[in-house]
Amino acid sequence: CVVSGPRIIRQLPPQLVNQIAAGEVIERPASVVKELLENSIDAGSSRIELTIDGGGVEMIRISDDGCGMTADQLPLAVTSHATSKLPDDDSLFHVGTLGFRGEALASIASVSQMTIRSRAEGEPSGSQIDIRGGVIESPGPCGCPVGTTIEVRNLFFNTPVRRKFLKTPQTERGHIVEAFTRLALANPKVHFVLRNGDKDMFDLLPTVRWADRIEAFFGTEISESLIQIENDDAQVKISGYACDPSVNRGNNRMQYLFLNGRHIRDRALQHALGEAYRGLLMVGRHPVCFLRMTMPPEMIDVNVHPAKLEVRFTDSGRVYSRLLQTLRQRFLATDMTHRVGPAP
Ligand code: ADP
Ligand code: MG
Repeated sequence: CVVSGPRIIRQLPPQLVNQIAAGEVIERPASVVKELLENSIDAGSSRIELTIDGGGVEMIRISDDGCGMTADQLPLAVTSHATSKLPDDDSLFHVGTLGFRGEALASIASVSQMTIRSRAEGEPSGSQIDIRGGVIESPGPCGCPVGTTIEVRNLFFNTPVRRKFLKTPQTERGHIVEAFTRLALANPKVHFVLRNGDKDMFDLLPTVRWADRIEAFFGTEISESLIQIENDDAQVKISGYACDPSVNRGNNRMQYLFLNGRHIRDRALQHALGEAYRGLLMVGRHPVCFLRMTMPPEMIDVNVHPAKLEVRFTDSGRVYSRLLQTLRQRFLATDMTHRVGPAP
């Protein structure tokens, strides 16, 4: 043995544990945006405003008009493994919210300078806490409307290596816009605003027509070529739009799949989409789709991936075939002959 004497095992302090955990969930400013937007949605907000500066590295601020938090809950919100979303131990198996791990705020707070201002319905005033690198600095009352505002500054200020891996502000902003797009597409009834510095990028009024929200992001080229999709499967319900094959892309990034309100990426389902368009698209081209799937929570395990992009289905074959079949049946019922692009 080359080691002299036994090694000392040390229990890591919570701040360090959170910094390590942050590495899994918080990769870049867009991950902060995703987590904070999800929290605002879980809080039942009807209006959510996101402001970013310097590609989100300098500053990310999210204001919502959701349920808010009381003064005594604020310190808990930034404690790891503390959540209001699993009221009892059985709820893990039928999660109905986007969050449930109780880790995001603790992780973000451990690698940034964070200020939370919040006021719960019925409270005479709001309260505020400042956290710097995971340490709560100054809790106290503050004046604010019902809802929550979270400001994250100087991301990764205390983890220089991670900060060095960030790309240019423009690239980071691109990732933020993508995260914002996914959440805003999934929640058309919520009013979303995105501001970059003092410039408005998006002001998306609430709508019940999903196509309106899709058009707000992608314009009329897409919205005018949407084919409505709907099935009546009790277990794997699918609704939304698939684009006319004449509108296609060189990659599969314009395939937006949502499962129980959560944006997902799933290779098998992307494959099913490709199969559904087989013969309608030239080789190397990919379809454009916006599809919402609803399944009983017990048929899904969202716990697989820390950022929850990947899910595991108890019966993935069934989900694959339902998606393929739903699209194929719809395409058969639509006269697609004039829609097929030129022969290769
Ligand atoms: P999770 O979302 O998994 O519960 P988070 O760390 O993201 O974990 O948030 C911790 C808790 O803080 C949440 O469970 C919720 O009670 C509270 N919280 C966070 N953001 C908001 C918000 N915008 N409005 C109201 N409560 C919030
Ligand atoms: Mg959360």
